[in-house]
Amino acid sequence: MSSDIENVIIVGTGCSGLTAAIYTARANLNPLVIEGNLPGGQLTQTSEVENFPGFPEGIDGFMLMDNLRKQATRFGTRFEQSYIESVDFSQSPYTLKAAGKEYKARSIIISTGASPRLLGVPGEKEMFGGKGVTTCATCDGAFYRDMDVVVIGGGDTACEEALFLTRFCSKITLIHRRDELRASKIMADRTLAHEKIVPAWDTVVEEIEADETGNVSGIRVKNVKTDETSVIDCKGVFIAIGHIPNTGPFAEAISVDENGYFLPENGSQVKTGIPGVYVAGDCADHVYRQAITAAGMGCQAAIEAERYLAEAE
Ligand code: NAP
Repeated sequence: MSSDIENVIIVGTGCSGLTAAIYTARANLNPLVIEGNLPGGQLTQTSEVENFPGFPEGIDGFMLMDNLRKQATRFGTRFEQSYIESVDFSQSPYTLKAAGKEYKARSIIISTGASPRLLGVPGEKEMFGGKGVTTCATCDGAFYRDMDVVVIGGGDTACEEALFLTRFCSKITLIHRRDELRASKIMADRTLAHEKIVPAWDTVVEEIEADETGNVSGIRVKNVKTDETSVIDCKGVFIAIGHIPNTGPFAEAISVDENGYFLPENGSQVKTGIPGVYVAGDCADHVYRQAITAAGMGCQAAIEAERYLAEAE
């Protein structure tokens, strides 16, 4: 093999990508990791992570990702900043194409994550991750104990987030732009029946407002049927209007579902139909979407890649 054909290239540096890097590096595969536009992935945008096993006091999301990166580097992982725009998986070695550069590898692990869809209203970016705006109740819900919060969205995720938040919060206003939830009937019924959850129908968010310390104090909303505006006081804004899986450049080569998530082969979470090409993390998982599940998938993909390369020798 020519020296510029890599054993394994990992695309993405979230929990799944860096875990795959740690495992493949420790297996002496000298992995190359391609970092995209958000090095460290979604966790770098959150504050405290309290549910990643092994950190009884919790850990800052950025620090957790930095630790994973250092751990991967310690065993020889190499990193390169690049954005993969297209691929050729028709024959091995496989090709990844970025602007002005091509990469070739015998095995590929795609762990490009998913990006939460955001509202695009004033205040959202400014208070995202630590100042009251978040996209993950499982991660951040416990910080809003005995407080009023809002959840935006009408799908299964919004219902799931709202129900989860009933464990901590005093009141959850569920803000939906229509007068009917998109969520499955069972989730919708359960959500609307909960005494702590109050729906606000036909309502869109116009702005997220801050208090004098720069933290969320409320949201300004508009009823789309009456055009009436009002302010809902709250300390937390949980945005649950869907995710966009970052699968675009690979979607012609690897099967995706109707929402764009990778569809692994039956019986596996990480194998694709292409030998030696694996998927891991949120780009292939719209159900669990946790740091630890993504890390677990990264581990699975790395072990599969290691076995594939050993058998191919
Ligand atoms: P989703 O089903 O696409 O729902 C997104 C919700 O956000 C919709 O109610 C949509 O409103 C609203 N929305 C989208 N863009 C918006 C915007 N710019 N402003 C305001 N509202 C906006 O997404 P999801 O809830 O994340 O679910 C994704 C998939 O995962 C679904 O297939 C879902 O069934 C599945 N899921 C399943 C479970 C479970 O089974 N336990 C849990 C979570 C997710 P409209 O309704 O008006 O379009």
